[in-house]
Amino acid sequence: MLVGASALSVLAILSIVGYLLVREFRNTEEDAARAALNIVQLISRDIRNTFSIYDTSLSNLIKLMQSQALAPLSPQTQKSVLFDRAIEAPSNAGFFVLDAEGKLIASSRPTVSLLDNALQQPWFRAHLKAKSDELFISRPLLVSGIPNDWNLILSRRITAPDGTFGGVAVAQMKLSYFQNLFRGLDLGPTGNISLISTDGILLIQSPATTKFYTGQDLSQTPIFLRFLTERYGSFTAMSGAYNLERLYNFAQVSELPMVVVVALSTEHIFSNWQHTALLIGSATLLLCLGLLWLTWLLVRELGLRQRAERELATLASTDPLTGLANRRMLDKTLDLEWRRAQRSGAPLSLIMIDIDHFKAFNDSYGHQAGDEALRRVAQAINAHVRRPADLAARYGGEEFAVVLTETDAAGTRLLAEKIRSAVEHMQPANTATNKLTVSLGACTRYAKPGDVQEELISTADKALYQAKKRGRNRVMDINETGLNALKPKPTE
Ligand code: GH3
Ligand code: MG
Ligand code: MG
Repeated sequence: MLVGASALSVLAILSIVGYLLVREFRNTEEDAARAALNIVQLISRDIRNTFSIYDTSLSNLIKLMQSQALAPLSPQTQKSVLFDRAIEAPSNAGFFVLDAEGKLIASSRPTVSLLDNALQQPWFRAHLKAKSDELFISRPLLVSGIPNDWNLILSRRITAPDGTFGGVAVAQMKLSYFQNLFRGLDLGPTGNISLISTDGILLIQSPATTKFYTGQDLSQTPIFLRFLTERYGSFTAMSGAYNLERLYNFAQVSELPMVVVVALSTEHIFSNWQHTALLIGSATLLLCLGLLWLTWLLVRELGLRQRAERELATLASTDPLTGLANRRMLDKTLDLEWRRAQRSGAPLSLIMIDIDHFKAFNDSYGHQAGDEALRRVAQAINAHVRRPADLAARYGGEEFAVVLTETDAAGTRLLAEKIRSAVEHMQPANTATNKLTVSLGACTRYAKPGDVQEELISTADKALYQAKKRGRNRVMDINETGLNALKPKPTE
């Protein structure tokens, strides 16, 4: 019970600590995801606002181009009316207007190599083909030949009054805009923020790494495909490029074909938790081991005490010379069995045994030989007492007693005779000593309420006295039928 209770306590402690650690783990993950998603939302809002400024500028540019009020103005004033507002758009590298043949007809700045071959540009061809006047955002382009001078082209179709294609209004936006936007964000080691177009082209990643680069096609990676299908949220996945687990937090920028992603290293997110878990885990484990160890000590101590008590009890009820039950035990057993017999109505028998002429034996061979003879007679008696409820005891001196439960007079006589015969035929320990014999007095009683147990002993004693009187080495019994001599003294 003690071991069970202690095992249950250990189990309870481990379950509680385990539950708390798992809950803390989930909270840590949720907090990290919430913080990262907040960054994603703020960045998305900024990007949407900036693109909205560009879009409005392009729409205004088209409206102004088509207005009649522009024609009478001088070229310088025209330029000022067309572009003064537009060029306030953050990180812009110029606004331009192309006619239906791709020829530059208005520009916020003088040299524009990007537009040299406008007819071949995908964005120009897209507007040429499609009737819609939606904002078109190009893939990242290296425009001026300067390394890493990445730009996006934002363009809108100009529709002539008769509905035909009338050219394209174009804005050039430097990708450094995003760099400035992302600057100062602390996303921990291997954490980064990325902007990916919905067709899977990486626009920018900050901080820049060698693993990813502007213009890289990520459209087939499983992680990108999850961004597309889920549009908003967080998930943990293995990063093939970093070869470690990362927490991806992402949202599609509303109305715009791009996704903002904040990716964090899970190792970094959970490093504090790991530390705490290790500390609490080992402390709990030590506590549990201590508890089990204490339980083990207690169980061992209790076991030792129990064994000592058992040994004491055995010592208190055993005769040290013969190893049989002692007089105390005999009295206790007789008392118990007498009352049991009174209740059940079963017979209870007692055989009193006395070694014949033992004083003479002692006198002849000394006390040591006498002790040894006592031990051997005790063994012979005990060998015949086999049933668990029966008892062989040393009554005192060279006298023994056998208690037989649920045994009638005939059975008792038979056993007494077996004992007598066994002692008679016992080989002496020393060839120099005489053989020993015993006299036995037996009594069988069907105890009734009110009968006293002492009568059983005194009657068995009387029978023994009769056995001695009639010549020893014999069994006499007294029961309901009176005194019986079972065995006459054998002829020698
Ligand atoms: P009887 O046939 O009439 O029984 O004669 P007895 O000599 O056996 O009877 P008695 O009662 O006169 O003598 C008993 C002797 O048993 C006395 C004592 O020397 C011996 N005796 C009693 N207890 C012990 C014991 O523990 N060890 C030894 N060696 N002898 C004992
Ligand atoms: Mg005696
Ligand atoms: Mg005797």
